[in-house]
Amino acid sequence: MHDIKENYHKIADSLPPDVQLVAISKYHPCQHIMAAYQEGQRHFGESHQQELTKKASQLPSDIQWHFIGHLQTNKVKNIAPYIAIIESVDSIRLMREIDKQAARNNRTIKILLQLHIAQETTKYGFTLDECRQMLSSGEWRQMKHIQICGLMTMATNVSDEQQIRREFNTAAQFFNEIKTTYFPHDPNFSQRSWGMSHDYHIALQCQTTNIRIGTKIFGERIY
Ligand SMILES: *Cc1c(COP(=O)(O)O)cnc(C)c1O
Repeated sequence: MHDIKENYHKIADSLPPDVQLVAISKYHPCQHIMAAYQEGQRHFGESHQQELTKKASQLPSDIQWHFIGHLQTNKVKNIAPYIAIIESVDSIRLMREIDKQAARNNRTIKILLQLHIAQETTKYGFTLDECRQMLSSGEWRQMKHIQICGLMTMATNVSDEQQIRREFNTAAQFFNEIKTTYFPHDPNFSQRSWGMSHDYHIALQCQTTNIRIGTKIFGERIY
């Protein structure tokens, strides 16, 4: 617990004021989440619906939960009542379901569009062209219970900082394109979620607004 407090402040206290720290707590127990909560952290991220639902029921209700994992459409209804933002939206089908479940709960759910930029076949997300096509189809404009707040991506898991930087810059440039084309007058389209424990120092130089840090706060995950 002492480590979590120290690790947390090392990162949180060094960030520019316009960057949001999302503490990624997947596979870590509620006590560890509470250690960061007691230091003032309110944004936490989880990647599995069941684990999230269990933790959310046990932890303070002012926590802002971010969903960051691959979300199956049939799981949306379980998180729709309380999720603050779904960062990992990767299909129009999923958008339709989030819109439907948000409406049922009488709320609007914030989402980010996840981009697949990394050179890894295992990562989910829209390619840039798929994302352009989805937005140009215009169907999303009828979805009154979702609010598209920006973009999320993960860089390839490599040690080559130049490659990571290129990928984050691609995402930043794409954000500007989408902002200009579809959301020029929407202040809600403002979030750029990139950077994890090993690469957030690069993301901070590439216009990130949300960094998602697990290991550097809570330690290694035990699967
Ligand atoms: C697990 C995860 C993170 C955090 O990774 P760390 O390397 O532990 O900081 C960030 N983003 C996503 C999408 C994740 O799944």
